[in-house]
Order: sequence, then structure tokens, then C-alpha cells
Amino acid sequence: SLNTERHEYDVVVIGAGGAGLRAAIEARQQGKRTAIVCKSLFGKAHTVMAEGGAAAAMGNVNSDDNWMVHFRDTMRGGKFLNNWRMAELHAKEAPDRVWELEAWGALFDRTKDGKISQRNFGGHEYPRLAHVGDRTGLELIRTLQQRVVALQQEDYEKHGDYEAYIKVFAECTITRLLKDGDRISGAFGYWRETGNFVLFDAPAVVLATGGIGKSYVVTSNSWEYTGDGHALALLAGANLINMEFIQFHPTGMVWPPSVRGILVTESVRGDGGVLRNSEGKRFMFDYIPDVFKDKYATTEEEGDRWYTDQANNRRPPELLPRDEVARAINAEVKAGRGSPQGGVFLDVSTRLPAEEIKKRLPSMHHQFKELADVDITAEPMQVGPTCHYIMGGVEVDADTGAAAVPGLFAAGEVSGGMHGSNRLGGNSLSDLLVFGRRAGAGAAAYVDSLESRPRLLPELVEEAREEAVAPLGRDGENPYEVHHELQRTMNDLVGIIRKAEEVSEALQVVEKLKERVRLVGAAGSRIYNPGWHLAIDLRNMVLVSECVARAALLREESRGGHTRDDFPGMNPDWRRKLLVCSTEDGSAVTVEEKLQPAMRDDLITLFDRDELKKYLTDEEMTEFDGISK
Ligand code: FAD
Repeated sequence: SLNTERHEYDVVVIGAGGAGLRAAIEARQQGKRTAIVCKSLFGKAHTVMAEGGAAAAMGNVNSDDNWMVHFRDTMRGGKFLNNWRMAELHAKEAPDRVWELEAWGALFDRTKDGKISQRNFGGHEYPRLAHVGDRTGLELIRTLQQRVVALQQEDYEKHGDYEAYIKVFAECTITRLLKDGDRISGAFGYWRETGNFVLFDAPAVVLATGGIGKSYVVTSNSWEYTGDGHALALLAGANLINMEFIQFHPTGMVWPPSVRGILVTESVRGDGGVLRNSEGKRFMFDYIPDVFKDKYATTEEEGDRWYTDQANNRRPPELLPRDEVARAINAEVKAGRGSPQGGVFLDVSTRLPAEEIKKRLPSMHHQFKELADVDITAEPMQVGPTCHYIMGGVEVDADTGAAAVPGLFAAGEVSGGMHGSNRLGGNSLSDLLVFGRRAGAGAAAYVDSLESRPRLLPELVEEAREEAVAPLGRDGENPYEVHHELQRTMNDLVGIIRKAEEVSEALQVVEKLKERVRLVGAAGSRIYNPGWHLAIDLRNMVLVSECVARAALLREESRGGHTRDDFPGMNPDWRRKLLVCSTEDGSAVTVEEKLQPAMRDDLITLFDRDELKKYLTDEEMTEFDGISK
């Protein structure tokens, strides 16, 4: 195994989405030799698919906006379970990160007076999403890649080698993190094309691998989102938090079956689109929860006026946070008021002129025309909930992105805490930039602090190699069948609405699947072999699914992206409780409760007493009254 291709770096970043690229740029800017490793092609990551925009309280469209309003919205969206330090850093730093992108060449849409334009989105009090049409993620990735190239050109000038300080390893999948004692010492992986193994020798690893959507049948996520980073962290001894909280985006395509789950951006609603049931009713008015009652319009007229006069009207309930809208759609369909193909109607055709729709939502227009033969300027779309985003992830230090394992860092969707129980739209792209930068800096500082470099231990490399080759040539079960059963189980039993019996049943299935995963076989060789790749990914998907199901069973309340049919309300006693997942060797997941620290005084006093009463325990309210005097 020591003949395996081997590379030495200071920092290895796993993932080339927004979080990974921003982390790598930072590590390189701090003088560290940095590798970027990604499973798919360079430039192809979820970040590219992001449509709506990046949330940042720049106050360009409404000057009343500022970091405190953004902080409050984020905490409300997450139902006060967020890591408040992360929410604070995010709200304060997001505008700088967006401006920095402009300095690096991004071109955002403008307001009439030439500022970066900002659009409305669910849960955001003011227009806040900096955007480029409905292709914001593409511009974000393009700009970060351009920045990487600019740094490589600088390095060429200085060292005669473009890749002296930053190199991309594309279509390369990491399957194991390696340690020396309790410290990270590198990572092990394979090239997708050749199946050859590759070894990274590095004291610091930044995980930026994105989400877990491929554990569900109906998802907006693409093939590479198999929870790899979540599982790699867990297996290396780090903790995962908030794993019960999964965001089902309210609007995925429902028809035709081949495209079920593909995202319909929230911008459709932000720009005026409305939801109707089979009776033609704008049903969202029936689903405004008490905690949001005073913030949303109660009549269609008021909701409509809001698009042009936000100072004197409240926003329409189509723009409630995603968990609320997804549950409402689910309930309408269940009550028999769904669309012919099992969703509801999302209509922008009667709300905006055709030309305006094509201008503001070009990708959506194209997507429906191409995939469903629907012209969204003339007829409504049919939409329904789709598994979109996981709030849960690696437990990290808010300021540095450091996980519990020395040398391990995480940022972006693979990390947990920032979004609490539910993420607001647009808060991911800004999260990637803010915490990608911080994790890159955290990793660089960690490397500087080391007195000795951890070693790659040959026996661990050999173990990783053996684990990877195991499915090859084994006369075992077909990995696609195991995958499909896992997806169905998670979709049907640990989906948008959960109950104890069903989640317990899912756990029993997952236990059996764990055994089956150990015995799956992949025919063929190591050369470009997707069956083999899936066999390897299954370990991660099953492990992460176990975390989701175990945490979902324990949390006996409904909050954000976790809805329990048998415990319908939010319970203040659960608000500060984090469910922390860990594992000894991957064979079983342990979940422990941990109390999150109380919010800092200057942050909690940003909220009104009346609002806090809806979330906090009596005891916490007494404490609050003490502070706010
Ligand atoms: P990703 O961009 O998901 O990148 C992950 C990277 O890790 C990829 O390069 C992948 O190849 C690599 N990787 C994974 N596993 C491995 C492995 N084992 N080895 C090596 N590499 C690996 N958020 C918003 O804020 N606004 C929006 O408008 C918005 N729209 C969205 C639209 C869609 C269709 C989707 C799916 C998501 C959207 N989101 C949006 C969410 C947001 O895009 C994602 O949460 C975010 O891009 C995740 O970024 P990331 O950097 O954490 O990871």
C-alpha cells in the first residue's frame, strides 16, 4: 500500500463547493500548501445549483436592514435552537463576504441606483438575497474558481509552478480520514476513473462535502450527496449534532416521475408566485402558526400589496419558513385537495407578465419546458416537498470550524449548528462563505501551532485499502437494491411527518441494512465502476441514516425540520437540548443529550419579551427578566 500515489500538504480540503473553495482560498492566502479534493468534476457541486441567492444584510433595497435583523430572522427560522454564536458571526460577516466576491469579479444584479440588488425570501424580514437571476450559485462558484486561478498565477510568478500552493484533485473520492493517535494525519481515497488509490499526508483536513440527500428517494440533491463528510467525521471520532433536522423544500417537481424532486426555486414565490390547491384556494392563509401570526398577511389583498409596499403591509404566507410551507402542502395533498400528480399548484403565470417571468426566472422557465413540457408563463406548475438540506452535521467551534478531533475542521452543509432546526433560504450560500473562510483560517492556525507533524501509519492505510476493495468481486447483494431500500425506508418512515412506531421500524430496517451493506458485491474491476463506488458510499448513507433516525426517535417534540405526529407542539424544555451522535467503530451510533449554552445577554435582549415567551422555559424567562432590567 505504500506504493500508493502519495501527496504531502499542509491542509487538505475535501469538497469543492462554496465552503471548500472559500476554505482553500483562505488557507492558501495564509501561506499553506493546500489540496482541494472533490468527488465530481471541478465546478460541479451543489453550490452551482443554488438559484435564489446569498443572504446578507447589506440594506441596499431596504435601509432598515442590518445584522441584528438578520440574526433575529435566522434564530426565528431555526426556532431558537441555532448555535447563536454562529448565527451572530454569519449575520455580521455575510455582507463583507458578498462584497469580497464582487472584488474578485462576481457580477450581481443591480438596483436602479447601481447597488447590489437584493430579493425577498421566506423568513427574511427585508429583501436580503444578493443574486444573479436565478443562477446565483453558478456565479459564486465561477468567481471562487477564478480566484483560485488568480492565486495559482501568483504562485507561478513566484515559484515557477502553478500548483505549488494550491492544487485541485477532481473526480477523486475520499473514503477514510487517517489519524496518528488522536490527531488527523491525512486522508485516503480513490480516483473515480482508474480506481487507483491515493494518499494525502496532511496535518489538517477541512470537510466541505455538502449534504446527505441521496438517503431519500425524493430529493433535490444529486448523486454525490451521500453523507460522506458526515460519516468520515463520525468514523474519525468527531460528533454530529442536529441530525434529526432535515429540510424538506416545499417545492420540488412532482412530474414526470424521472424528475421528481428536482428543485423549484423559492424565488418563484419571492417574486409573486402563489400556491393553490385543487379547489383553486390559496391555502397558505389557513396555515399561519401562532408564533408568526403578527408577521404575515391575513388576506390575499394585503399579501399582494406587500410586493410593492412593504412598509405598510405584511408578507404573504407563501413566504413562511420552508418547514411550515412543506407541512401545509403535505396536509393539503393528504386531505385530497392535491393536484392530479400528487402535489399542489404553484402559479406565477397569472401574477407576472410572461416577459418578466422569463427575465427573472430563466432557469425555471427552461427547466419546466424541457423536463415537463410545461410553459410556466401560461400555466401553473405542480410541486411537492423534496428532501433538500440537512441542518445537522459536524459539531464545530463557531469561530474556527474546528471539530472535536485535532486537525479536523468542517464548514458548509456538512457542519451543524448554524441553522438550528431549520435553515432560511439564502442562508446557505452566505454560510459557505463566512464559515468556509473561518475554517480555512482555523486549519492554517492549527498547522502553525503544531510542534511535530503527525505521521501516516501504514497499518491504517492498509485497513482503508482493504475496506475499499472488499466489495469487488464478492458474490454479494446488488448495491443498487440495498440503496433503494434505504431510500424508501427513510422517505416513508423518517420523512416529513414522523411517529415513534414508524421511526422504530426504520431503525430495525437500518440495522439489517448495515449487515447487508457489509456483504454487497460489485462485479467488474476498479476501472470506472459506479457499482463499486455505490457499494463504498452505502457505508456512509446507512451510518448517517442511523443518526437521523435515532435522533428523530429521541426528540419528543416538533420543531423546524423535525415534525412528530405524536408530539405535535414545540416543547421549551427541548429547545436548548442538542442530540449528539458519535460512534466507536461505525458498528453502532450512540446519541447523548447535551445542553447548549444560554444566549449571550446582548444577543438575547435583541428580542422582545413577548416573542421569547413562545420559545423559552419559565425559568429562562425569569433569567431574561433579570438581564433586561
Ligand atoms: P457542495 O456545494 O454540496 O459541495 C460538496 C463538494 O464535496 C463537492 O465538490 C463534492 O464533489 C465533494 N464531495 C462530497 N463527498 C466527497 C468525498 N467523499 N470525497 C471528495 N469530495 C467529496 N442555498 C442558498 O443559500 N440559496 C439558494 O438559492 C440555494 N439553492 C439551492 C438549489 C438546489 C437545487 C440545491 C440542491 C441546493 C440549494 N441551496 C441553496 C443549498 C446550497 O446550495 C447547499 O447547501 C450548498 O451549496 C452546500 O455547499 P457546500 O460547499 O457545503 O457543499
